[in-house]
Amino acid sequence: MLTAAIAPGTAMSAPGNRKMGYAIVGLGSYATRQIMPQFANCESARLVALVSGTPAKLERYGAEYGVPRTHLYNYQNFDSIRDNPDIDIVYVVLPVSMHAEYTIRAASAGKHVLCEKPMAMSSAECEAMIAACRQAGKRLMIGYRCHFEPHNRLAIELARAKFVGPTRQITAAHGFNISAGQWRLDRTMSGGGSLMDIGIYSLNAARYLTGEEPTEVVALESTDGDDPRFRTVEDRIDFTLRFPSGVIASCVSSYSSGHNDYRVIGTNGWIAMEPATPYSGHVMHVRKDGVTERRELPPPVKNQFVAQLDHLPECVSAGNEPIVPGEEGLRDLRIIEAIYRSARERRAVTLVSA
Ligand code: NDP
Repeated sequence: MLTAAIAPGTAMSAPGNRKMGYAIVGLGSYATRQIMPQFANCESARLVALVSGTPAKLERYGAEYGVPRTHLYNYQNFDSIRDNPDIDIVYVVLPVSMHAEYTIRAASAGKHVLCEKPMAMSSAECEAMIAACRQAGKRLMIGYRCHFEPHNRLAIELARAKFVGPTRQITAAHGFNISAGQWRLDRTMSGGGSLMDIGIYSLNAARYLTGEEPTEVVALESTDGDDPRFRTVEDRIDFTLRFPSGVIASCVSSYSSGHNDYRVIGTNGWIAMEPATPYSGHVMHVRKDGVTERRELPPPVKNQFVAQLDHLPECVSAGNEPIVPGEEGLRDLRIIEAIYRSARERRAVTLVSA
């Protein structure tokens, strides 16, 4: 498939009205299967460069997307992207332990950054990433694709407009039965277990559905220490968040069972999404005044991936902050750290909003 690619040797740095060029860093499953095919449908973004530690992938995807050899990089010569004016934005799609390093190196090379979730191993790393991008005068956005997905956007709109009455409770559950032998199960690369990887969707949803920041968290962890998958990371961690308006969010994060749903329960009904945060195939039901109906949306002009890829260049052009800036990733990491502390110390932890 040849998509929104550049012909070898084509000058792409002409100023003016052009699509901004992305370099994808880390040619793993998410980058190659979900992200890269989406450039074909972007209005403001195009794929111009690839960064990989695997020469065969550079060869294969370089040919598939028409990326010239001059625009293929590895982790050693990554910093020379500074000399490539075709690259405007670096999209970091690496294991979590590499997010901070490549975000900071990209900003130092004079590029804007889109970094995958979870933003980093710790809130301290998130702060360093934000500082590096600010110092370089570059935008930083986090890959929270659900903020661009129409069903989720409608759920946010309905919940915040009190369509089913003021929200009293949110339930959110995310999990899957993880297979052994991957970096996600190595704490030195992932920073943690299910919560960092998939439970973060429950956490982020509770925050975007309320539009509030939690003030208190209580968490319980359940991990089978005899399961070889969970030698260094947690399996299941359930957490409850208290929000200033009085909403309580009960959240599930699991690496041993399948979940992908949330429900906003108001005084006069509920909004239910299952699946809530998949790549496609969202299903939404709304119950109001005792009547339940399915909400079906027309196919979007831009799916969540395309909308996300286009958003950052459009923010750069307009001088706007992205709707999911580095600070959004930092907020989640601070709460994640509090969730872990609550589970470890077996007590409620108060959150101070920044
Ligand atoms: P993969 O393991 O499939 O890919 C990671 C890639 O990183 C590898 O293929 C490799 O690419 C590169 N890499 C460099 N060093 C290492 C190393 N030491 N070990 C393993 N890989 C290395 O992971 P995913 O694509 O699933 O995840 C990548 C990122 O995307 C993560 O941050 C994840 O949380 C996020 N993600 C986000 C999703 C979303 O919906 N927003 C969905 C899935 C993942 P190469 O060979 O090219 O160097």
